[in-house]
This record gives sequence, structure tokens and C-alpha cells, in this order.
Amino acid sequence: MKVVVVVGGVGGARFLLGVKAALGLPGIGEPAEASPHEVTAIVNTGDDVWLHGLRICPDLDTCMYTLGGGIDPERGWGHAGETWTVKEELAAYGAEPSWFGLGDKDIATHLIRTRMLKAGYPLSAVTEALCDRWRPGARLLPMTDDRVETHVVVDDPDLPGQRKALHFQEWWVRYRAQLPAHSIVPVGAEQSVPGPGVLESIAEADAVLLAPSNPVVSVGTVLSVPGVRDAVRKTEAGVVGVSPIIGGKPLRGMADACLAAIGVETSAEGVGRHYGSRQTSDEGLLDGWLVQAGESVDVPGVAVRAVPLIMSDVDATAGMARAALNLAGVDLD
Ligand code: GDP
Ligand code: CA
Repeated sequence: MKVVVVVGGVGGARFLLGVKAALGLPGIGEPAEASPHEVTAIVNTGDDVWLHGLRICPDLDTCMYTLGGGIDPERGWGHAGETWTVKEELAAYGAEPSWFGLGDKDIATHLIRTRMLKAGYPLSAVTEALCDRWRPGARLLPMTDDRVETHVVVDDPDLPGQRKALHFQEWWVRYRAQLPAHSIVPVGAEQSVPGPGVLESIAEADAVLLAPSNPVVSVGTVLSVPGVRDAVRKTEAGVVGVSPIIGGKPLRGMADACLAAIGVETSAEGVGRHYGSRQTSDEGLLDGWLVQAGESVDVPGVAVRAVPLIMSDVDATAGMARAALNLAGVDLD
């Protein structure tokens, strides 16, 4: 069974743990074993950024560390047992930007990535090399090897009456998404091409799942790479999305600020309708949509099912993944 999951960072990575568990694939720390099942994650790279000369790929790293057992479980990003000496030293020099959390252990990952990119390796090959250490037990495919960076247009905080485009990371991390966004733009997406294996894996999948990731700056950015939306619309596999919105709120993070920017209501129904039906709409993606137990949601042309959607532990998340795979028409027994 081949399962493809479109993901961002924390929400996507946690969901991937559940998909692997639902398929009986080895969990964190368990030895790899042969399995007929294969999980491929198509990972958002629109959050990627150059900082202090290093290429940083937050969502790829969150997936890699989470599945590889190295994530800080409290923060949900970065390494467990991280230290911050380099960040403090940079701050002592007054080196900007100082708002990004660059941990010492994390920097080793960024150094290797940057060195390989500068030597001419594409991001997909770099990711594969980094995964040699972390053994995530799922294929992590960057959505593209090209440079795509999400920018957010806001009122300039320093120049009243003017607008300014900030890198997504600056808007999200420095300003905590508190500056209202006029628009959110995946800069470079139009000229980008899908990374190696992205379109093929979607075409060959038995199920395609949209993780409960940010619908705008995670899933939306992956879908902005030309050819990806079309591949999802045309695959013979069932396509099922999982709502990141529960009770009208994102579970963590500020996805509501992103949804507001694109004029979509922050609700499971709003996001489900935004993704739309593959069968009844020209741009739609979904056959099925999972929403939180107890919510009643109508998305025309889409089979909606309500199940518990809180990823409190791997077992709970595996239950969500099983429900998603079932709705996608996959028989796990
Ligand atoms: P990011 O790139 O680190 O921001 O992570 P993602 O885009 O992959 O996921 C962020 C989304 O995950 C947020 O919009 C949250 O609402 C959602 N999320 C986080 N935890 C849960 C959970 O336990 N259940 C569900 N359904 N969604 C969650
Ligand atoms: Ca992200």
C-alpha cells in the first residue's frame, strides 16, 4: 500500500507518525523491517529561509526530527535537549535577525544542508542524505527543489501608510502573525517544478491524504507548485483531508490569521469547502473530509466523517489515520 501525505511541520509530522502506526510500520526507536506499505510525505518548503548564511527548512526538519525521534516534544520543533550558545553569541555581536530560534544541534543540520546545496546538490538529495541519519521510515520529498518562499504583505510597522512584504518566518515568528495580512504569496512558486518523485508518488498512490496542517501556508503552498493540484485531482487514489480546525479554532499556531488573509472562515466547514470536491468543482481536491467528532459539517460533493481528531498520542493519531484511509477507500485488514 502506498500512502502519500501532503504536510507542513508540526501538524503534518505528528500525523505522519499516526499514518505509519496505522500501517503497522515501525515506530520511533523500533528496528526497520520489511513491509509492503510505504509512506511518502510531500513537504512544504515555502517556510525555508536563509539566516546567517544557513539554509533553514523548518517543515522538512520538523518531519525528519519527529519521525526520527529527535524532536523536542514540548516545543514541537527543533531538537530535544537543545542548547543556544551560538544564538547567544550572535546576539552579543548584535547580528540580526535575532528573533529566530537557532539551536546549537540544529545548526549542525543547517551546516550540512548549506554545504551540500552550495556544492550543487538539489534539496531533495540533501534531504535524503540527512535522513540517512534520522531514518524517518517515510520518504520525505520536498515539494520542489526550486526556491519558493512564502511572503506576507502587511502594513509596514515602521512606515505608516505603506505596505511591505515580509518573509513568512518573520511574520510568524517575530510578529506572531499579529500584523494583519493583506495577502500571502508563495514567491517563486509559479516558476517552480515539483521535486523528483512528487507527481509520480501522487499518481501511483493508493491513498492521498492532506494532513491537518496549515491549509494556507503548508498544504496551500505545496498545492501552489504547478502540476501538484492537477496530480491530486487526477490520481486514481481516494483523496481525503483532515481538518486542522476544531471548534472553529486551530489547535496550535495561528492558522486563523492565514485563513483570514485568503478570506476563508476558520472552521472545519470553511476549510473543507476551500479544498473543495474533486467531483463537483473544477479546482477541488477532496473525496473525503474528516472533522472533529460532534461537529456537523457540510461540504458539497465530499463525504464528511466526524471522528476524534486530537493527536494526543500515537494511538489516537493512528485512529485518525485509519479513519482517513478508510474514507479514501483503503481496506487495512
Ligand atoms: P507548522 O508548519 O509547524 O505550522 O505545522 P503544520 O502546518 O503541519 O500544522 C499546523 C496545524 O496543525 C495547525 O493549524 C493546527 O491547528 C494543526 N494541529 C496541531 N495539532 C493538531 C491536532 O492534534 N489535531 C488536529 N486536527 N490538528 C492539529
Ligand atoms: Ca511550517
